[in-house]
Amino acid sequence: YQAKRQKLPVCVFEPWMECEVAEQLQIAKRLSNAIAEKQLRLHFQPQVDLRNGRLIGAEALCRWNDEELGVVSPGRFIPIAEERGMMVALGNWVIEEACRQLAQWHQQGLRLPGQLAINIAADQFEDGDLVTSLLDYCQQFQVEASMLSLEITESGIMVNPEKAIAMTKTLKGKGLGLAIDDFGTGYSSLAYLKRFAADKIKIDISFVRDMLTSDNDRVIVETIIAMATTLGLETIAEGIEHASQAEALMAMGCTQAQGYYFDRPLPADQFAARWLMGAQRL
Ligand code: C2E
Ligand code: MG
Ligand code: MG
Ligand code: MG
Repeated sequence: YQAKRQKLPVCVFEPWMECEVAEQLQIAKRLSNAIAEKQLRLHFQPQVDLRNGRLIGAEALCRWNDEELGVVSPGRFIPIAEERGMMVALGNWVIEEACRQLAQWHQQGLRLPGQLAINIAADQFEDGDLVTSLLDYCQQFQVEASMLSLEITESGIMVNPEKAIAMTKTLKGKGLGLAIDDFGTGYSSLAYLKRFAADKIKIDISFVRDMLTSDNDRVIVETIIAMATTLGLETIAEGIEHASQAEALMAMGCTQAQGYYFDRPLPADQFAARWLMGAQRL
Protein backbone atom coordinates (compact mmCIF):
# COMPACT_ATOMS: atom_id res chain seq x y z
CA TYR A 1 0.00 0.00 0.00
CA GLN A 2 2.78 2.38 0.95
CA ALA A 3 4.60 1.70 -2.32
CA LYS A 4 1.50 2.32 -4.36
CA ARG A 5 0.76 5.45 -2.44
CA GLN A 6 4.15 6.92 -3.14
CA LYS A 7 3.49 6.68 -6.84
CA LEU A 8 0.47 8.94 -6.62
CA PRO A 9 1.09 12.35 -8.18
CA VAL A 10 1.77 15.08 -5.68
CA CYS A 11 -1.14 17.46 -5.52
CA VAL A 12 -0.40 20.89 -4.17
CA PHE A 13 -3.47 22.74 -3.13
CA GLU A 14 -3.22 26.39 -2.41
CA PRO A 15 -5.85 28.84 -1.13
CA TRP A 16 -5.99 30.82 -4.42
CA MET A 17 -7.08 27.65 -6.22
CA GLU A 18 -10.15 27.43 -4.05
CA CYS A 19 -10.95 31.07 -4.84
CA GLU A 20 -10.46 30.48 -8.55
CA VAL A 21 -12.75 27.45 -8.56
CA ALA A 22 -15.41 29.25 -6.56
CA GLU A 23 -15.24 32.23 -8.89
CA GLN A 24 -15.49 30.02 -11.97
CA LEU A 25 -18.54 28.37 -10.49
CA GLN A 26 -20.17 31.72 -9.86
CA ILE A 27 -19.38 32.91 -13.38
CA ALA A 28 -20.78 29.67 -14.81
CA LYS A 29 -24.03 30.00 -12.85
CA ARG A 30 -24.62 33.62 -13.76
CA LEU A 31 -23.58 33.07 -17.38
CA SER A 32 -25.99 30.20 -17.76
CA ASN A 33 -28.74 32.49 -16.53
CA ALA A 34 -27.57 35.37 -18.74
CA ILE A 35 -27.71 33.13 -21.82
CA ALA A 36 -31.22 31.92 -20.94
CA GLU A 37 -32.38 35.49 -20.32
CA LYS A 38 -30.64 36.76 -23.47
CA GLN A 39 -28.59 39.29 -21.52
CA LEU A 40 -25.46 38.97 -23.67
CA ARG A 41 -24.76 41.49 -26.42
CA LEU A 42 -22.86 41.38 -29.68
CA HIS A 43 -20.32 43.97 -30.67
CA PHE A 44 -19.12 44.37 -34.24
CA GLN A 45 -15.58 44.99 -35.40
CA PRO A 46 -14.93 46.08 -38.99
CA GLN A 47 -12.81 44.01 -41.33
CA VAL A 48 -11.21 46.05 -44.10
CA ASP A 49 -9.44 45.65 -47.41
CA LEU A 50 -5.83 46.63 -46.63
CA ARG A 51 -5.30 48.11 -50.08
CA ASN A 52 -8.01 50.78 -49.85
CA GLY A 53 -9.34 50.68 -46.29
CA ARG A 54 -12.84 49.72 -47.49
CA LEU A 55 -15.16 47.68 -45.32
CA ILE A 56 -15.31 44.05 -46.43
CA GLY A 57 -17.18 42.56 -43.47
CA ALA A 58 -17.31 42.47 -39.69
CA GLU A 59 -16.73 40.07 -36.82
CA ALA A 60 -19.44 39.64 -34.17
CA LEU A 61 -17.94 39.40 -30.67
CA CYS A 62 -19.81 38.47 -27.52
CA ARG A 63 -20.08 40.96 -24.65
CA TRP A 64 -21.37 40.39 -21.14
CA ASN A 65 -22.10 43.02 -18.50
CA ASP A 66 -23.44 41.23 -15.44
CA GLU A 67 -25.41 43.01 -12.70
CA GLU A 68 -23.23 41.54 -9.96
CA LEU A 69 -19.95 40.71 -11.66
CA GLY A 70 -19.75 43.77 -13.92
CA VAL A 71 -18.13 43.42 -17.33
CA VAL A 72 -16.66 39.96 -17.81
CA SER A 73 -14.42 39.57 -20.88
CA PRO A 74 -14.90 36.72 -23.38
CA GLY A 75 -11.31 35.73 -22.64
CA ARG A 76 -12.59 34.87 -19.16
CA PHE A 77 -16.09 33.51 -19.72
CA ILE A 78 -15.70 31.61 -23.03
CA PRO A 79 -13.23 29.05 -21.60
CA ILE A 80 -15.55 28.52 -18.62
CA ALA A 81 -18.53 28.10 -20.94
CA GLU A 82 -16.50 25.64 -23.04
CA GLU A 83 -15.47 23.62 -20.02
CA ARG A 84 -19.02 23.40 -18.69
CA GLY A 85 -20.78 22.54 -21.92
CA MET A 86 -22.51 25.89 -22.39
CA MET A 87 -21.17 26.73 -25.84
CA VAL A 88 -24.04 25.27 -27.84
CA ALA A 89 -26.56 27.44 -25.99
CA LEU A 90 -24.29 30.49 -26.18
CA GLY A 91 -23.43 29.83 -29.82
CA ASN A 92 -27.06 29.44 -30.82
CA TRP A 93 -27.84 32.79 -29.24
CA VAL A 94 -24.95 34.34 -31.19
CA ILE A 95 -26.32 32.95 -34.45
CA GLU A 96 -29.82 34.20 -33.65
CA GLU A 97 -28.62 37.65 -32.64
CA ALA A 98 -26.33 37.96 -35.67
CA CYS A 99 -29.26 37.14 -37.99
CA ARG A 100 -31.57 39.50 -36.11
CA GLN A 101 -29.05 42.33 -36.43
CA LEU A 102 -28.47 41.75 -40.14
CA ALA A 103 -32.26 41.80 -40.67
CA GLN A 104 -32.58 45.01 -38.66
CA TRP A 105 -29.85 46.76 -40.65
CA HIS A 106 -31.56 45.62 -43.81
CA GLN A 107 -34.87 47.12 -42.60
CA GLN A 108 -33.03 50.38 -41.89
CA GLY A 109 -31.79 50.42 -45.45
CA LEU A 110 -28.25 49.59 -44.39
CA ARG A 111 -26.15 46.93 -46.00
CA LEU A 112 -23.05 45.27 -44.61
CA PRO A 113 -20.68 44.65 -47.51
CA GLY A 114 -19.24 41.15 -47.46
CA GLN A 115 -20.08 38.81 -44.63
CA LEU A 116 -20.69 38.93 -40.90
CA ALA A 117 -18.25 36.54 -39.22
CA ILE A 118 -19.32 34.62 -36.13
CA ASN A 119 -17.06 32.51 -33.93
CA ILE A 120 -17.93 28.84 -33.70
CA ALA A 121 -16.78 26.60 -30.84
CA ALA A 122 -15.85 22.94 -31.23
CA ASP A 123 -18.94 21.80 -29.31
CA GLN A 124 -21.16 23.40 -31.92
CA PHE A 125 -19.72 20.98 -34.49
CA GLU A 126 -20.08 18.02 -32.18
CA ASP A 127 -23.69 18.86 -31.51
CA GLY A 128 -24.65 18.14 -35.09
CA ASP A 129 -27.44 20.70 -35.20
CA LEU A 130 -25.19 23.57 -36.25
CA VAL A 131 -26.32 23.37 -39.87
CA THR A 132 -29.99 23.27 -38.87
CA SER A 133 -29.51 26.13 -36.40
CA LEU A 134 -27.82 28.34 -38.96
CA LEU A 135 -30.32 27.66 -41.72
CA ASP A 136 -33.35 27.97 -39.41
CA TYR A 137 -32.30 31.35 -38.03
CA CYS A 138 -31.46 32.59 -41.53
CA GLN A 139 -34.93 31.61 -42.64
CA GLN A 140 -36.64 33.07 -39.55
CA PHE A 141 -34.99 36.47 -40.10
CA GLN A 142 -35.03 36.32 -43.91
CA VAL A 143 -31.25 36.54 -44.07
CA GLU A 144 -29.26 34.93 -46.88
CA ALA A 145 -26.90 32.28 -45.51
CA SER A 146 -24.20 33.84 -47.70
CA MET A 147 -24.32 36.93 -45.46
CA LEU A 148 -22.59 34.89 -42.75
CA SER A 149 -19.16 33.42 -42.37
CA LEU A 150 -17.82 31.19 -39.62
CA GLU A 151 -14.53 31.56 -37.74
CA ILE A 152 -13.22 28.28 -36.43
CA THR A 153 -9.91 27.70 -34.67
CA GLU A 154 -7.48 24.97 -35.66
CA SER A 155 -8.06 23.23 -32.34
CA GLY A 156 -11.80 23.51 -32.92
CA ILE A 157 -11.38 21.64 -36.19
CA MET A 158 -9.03 19.04 -34.77
CA VAL A 159 -11.45 17.87 -32.05
CA ASN A 160 -13.33 15.92 -34.70
CA PRO A 161 -11.82 16.80 -38.08
CA GLU A 162 -13.92 14.40 -40.16
CA LYS A 163 -17.14 15.79 -38.77
CA ALA A 164 -15.96 19.39 -39.12
CA ILE A 165 -14.99 18.74 -42.75
CA ALA A 166 -18.34 17.12 -43.58
CA MET A 167 -20.35 19.87 -41.90
CA THR A 168 -18.45 22.73 -43.45
CA LYS A 169 -18.88 21.20 -46.91
CA THR A 170 -22.65 21.47 -46.43
CA LEU A 171 -22.37 25.01 -45.14
CA LYS A 172 -20.09 26.09 -47.98
CA GLY A 173 -22.67 24.72 -50.36
CA LYS A 174 -25.14 27.18 -48.84
CA GLY A 175 -22.75 30.06 -49.46
CA LEU A 176 -21.36 30.57 -45.96
CA GLY A 177 -17.78 31.76 -45.71
CA LEU A 178 -15.23 29.87 -43.67
CA ALA A 179 -12.14 31.25 -41.92
CA ILE A 180 -9.58 29.50 -39.74
CA ASP A 181 -9.16 31.70 -36.66
CA ASP A 182 -5.98 32.28 -34.63
CA PHE A 183 -4.00 30.52 -37.32
CA GLY A 184 -0.54 29.39 -36.28
CA THR A 185 -1.32 28.96 -32.57
CA GLY A 186 -2.87 25.51 -32.67
CA TYR A 187 -1.56 22.33 -34.12
CA SER A 188 -3.36 21.31 -37.24
CA SER A 189 -2.41 19.00 -40.01
CA LEU A 190 -1.95 20.58 -43.42
CA ALA A 191 -3.71 17.55 -44.89
CA TYR A 192 -6.86 18.37 -42.93
CA LEU A 193 -6.59 22.06 -43.68
CA LYS A 194 -6.63 21.32 -47.38
CA ARG A 195 -9.76 19.18 -47.07
CA PHE A 196 -11.42 21.66 -44.75
CA ALA A 197 -12.09 23.98 -47.71
CA ALA A 198 -11.72 27.25 -45.80
CA ASP A 199 -11.63 30.36 -47.92
CA LYS A 200 -9.70 32.49 -45.46
CA ILE A 201 -6.91 32.20 -42.92
CA LYS A 202 -6.84 34.59 -39.99
CA ILE A 203 -3.30 35.34 -38.81
CA ASP A 204 -3.22 35.34 -35.02
CA ILE A 205 -2.81 38.58 -33.12
CA SER A 206 0.31 37.31 -31.31
CA PHE A 207 2.33 37.16 -34.56
CA VAL A 208 1.02 40.51 -35.75
CA ARG A 209 1.86 42.14 -32.41
CA ASP A 210 5.53 41.17 -32.58
CA MET A 211 6.21 40.94 -36.31
CA LEU A 212 8.04 44.27 -36.46
CA THR A 213 10.35 43.48 -33.54
CA SER A 214 10.83 39.74 -33.79
CA ASP A 215 12.41 38.09 -36.84
CA ASN A 216 10.75 34.81 -35.90
CA ASP A 217 7.27 36.30 -35.88
CA ARG A 218 7.89 38.16 -39.13
CA VAL A 219 9.00 34.94 -40.81
CA ILE A 220 5.94 33.10 -39.45
CA VAL A 221 3.63 35.79 -40.85
CA GLU A 222 5.43 35.70 -44.22
CA THR A 223 5.19 31.92 -44.32
CA ILE A 224 1.48 31.87 -43.45
CA ILE A 225 0.72 34.42 -46.16
CA ALA A 226 2.83 32.54 -48.73
CA MET A 227 1.16 29.24 -47.86
CA ALA A 228 -2.34 30.72 -47.95
CA THR A 229 -1.67 32.42 -51.26
CA THR A 230 -0.35 29.19 -52.77
CA LEU A 231 -3.46 27.34 -51.59
CA GLY A 232 -5.66 30.07 -53.06
CA LEU A 233 -6.85 31.29 -49.67
CA GLU A 234 -7.51 34.85 -48.57
CA THR A 235 -5.51 36.14 -45.56
CA ILE A 236 -6.78 38.46 -42.87
CA ALA A 237 -4.57 39.74 -40.07
CA GLU A 238 -6.11 40.37 -36.64
CA GLY A 239 -4.96 42.79 -33.97
CA ILE A 240 -3.54 45.57 -36.13
CA GLU A 241 -2.92 48.58 -33.91
CA HIS A 242 -0.48 50.67 -35.97
CA ALA A 243 -0.12 51.90 -39.53
CA SER A 244 3.36 50.35 -39.67
CA GLN A 245 1.85 46.88 -39.14
CA ALA A 246 -0.74 47.46 -41.86
CA GLU A 247 1.99 48.59 -44.28
CA ALA A 248 4.28 45.64 -43.52
CA LEU A 249 1.40 43.16 -43.94
CA MET A 250 0.37 44.68 -47.23
CA ALA A 251 3.96 44.46 -48.49
CA MET A 252 3.91 40.74 -47.60
CA GLY A 253 0.77 40.20 -49.67
CA CYS A 254 -1.85 40.10 -46.92
CA THR A 255 -5.10 41.52 -48.29
CA GLN A 256 -7.43 42.02 -45.33
CA ALA A 257 -7.18 43.32 -41.79
CA GLN A 258 -8.94 43.88 -38.50
CA GLY A 259 -7.76 45.72 -35.41
CA TYR A 260 -7.98 48.78 -33.18
CA TYR A 261 -6.07 50.78 -35.82
CA PHE A 262 -9.23 50.63 -37.96
CA ASP A 263 -11.76 50.46 -35.13
CA ARG A 264 -12.64 48.62 -31.92
CA PRO A 265 -15.54 46.21 -31.65
CA LEU A 266 -18.58 48.51 -31.39
CA PRO A 267 -22.23 48.21 -30.31
CA ALA A 268 -24.49 47.72 -33.35
CA ASP A 269 -25.77 51.31 -33.55
CA GLN A 270 -22.27 52.80 -33.35
CA PHE A 271 -20.94 50.32 -35.87
CA ALA A 272 -23.76 51.24 -38.25
CA ALA A 273 -23.24 54.99 -37.76
CA ARG A 274 -19.51 54.82 -38.34
CA TRP A 275 -19.23 52.12 -40.99
CA LEU A 276 -22.54 51.45 -42.72
CA MET A 277 -24.08 54.89 -43.07
CA GLY A 278 -20.85 56.39 -44.43
CA ALA A 279 -20.58 53.56 -46.92
CA GLN A 280 -24.12 54.30 -48.10
CA ARG A 281 -23.25 57.89 -48.87
CA LEU A 282 -20.35 56.86 -51.12
P1 C2E B 1 -10.99 36.02 -31.60
O1 C2E B 1 -12.12 35.38 -32.31
O2 C2E B 1 -9.62 35.75 -32.09
O3 C2E B 1 -11.32 37.59 -31.65
C1 C2E B 1 -10.36 38.60 -31.73
C2 C2E B 1 -10.12 39.25 -30.40
O4 C2E B 1 -9.12 40.27 -30.56
C3 C2E B 1 -11.33 39.97 -29.83
O5 C2E B 1 -11.25 39.86 -28.41
C4 C2E B 1 -11.10 41.42 -30.25
O6 C2E B 1 -11.78 42.36 -29.44
C5 C2E B 1 -9.61 41.52 -30.07
N1 C2E B 1 -9.00 42.55 -30.88
C6 C2E B 1 -9.38 43.03 -32.07
N2 C2E B 1 -8.52 43.97 -32.53
C7 C2E B 1 -7.57 44.09 -31.60
C8 C2E B 1 -6.38 44.89 -31.48
O7 C2E B 1 -6.03 45.69 -32.35
N3 C2E B 1 -5.62 44.71 -30.35
C9 C2E B 1 -5.96 43.83 -29.37
N4 C2E B 1 -5.17 43.73 -28.31
N5 C2E B 1 -7.06 43.05 -29.45
C10 C2E B 1 -7.85 43.18 -30.55
P2 C2E B 1 -12.51 39.56 -27.51
O8 C2E B 1 -13.71 40.25 -28.05
O9 C2E B 1 -12.11 39.84 -26.10
O10 C2E B 1 -12.73 38.00 -27.70
C11 C2E B 1 -11.73 37.09 -27.30
C12 C2E B 1 -12.00 35.71 -27.84
O11 C2E B 1 -13.20 35.18 -27.24
C13 C2E B 1 -12.24 35.66 -29.34
O12 C2E B 1 -11.01 35.66 -30.03
C14 C2E B 1 -12.98 34.35 -29.46
O13 C2E B 1 -12.10 33.27 -29.43
C15 C2E B 1 -13.81 34.33 -28.17
N6 C2E B 1 -15.17 34.80 -28.49
C16 C2E B 1 -15.71 36.04 -28.45
N7 C2E B 1 -17.00 36.03 -28.81
C17 C2E B 1 -17.30 34.73 -29.09
C18 C2E B 1 -18.49 34.06 -29.55
O14 C2E B 1 -19.54 34.65 -29.80
N8 C2E B 1 -18.40 32.70 -29.74
C19 C2E B 1 -17.24 32.02 -29.52
N9 C2E B 1 -17.23 30.68 -29.73
N10 C2E B 1 -16.12 32.62 -29.11
C20 C2E B 1 -16.14 33.95 -28.91
MG1 MG C 1 -12.65 35.27 -34.28
MG1 MG D 1 -8.85 35.39 -33.89
MG1 MG E 1 -7.39 35.48 -31.38
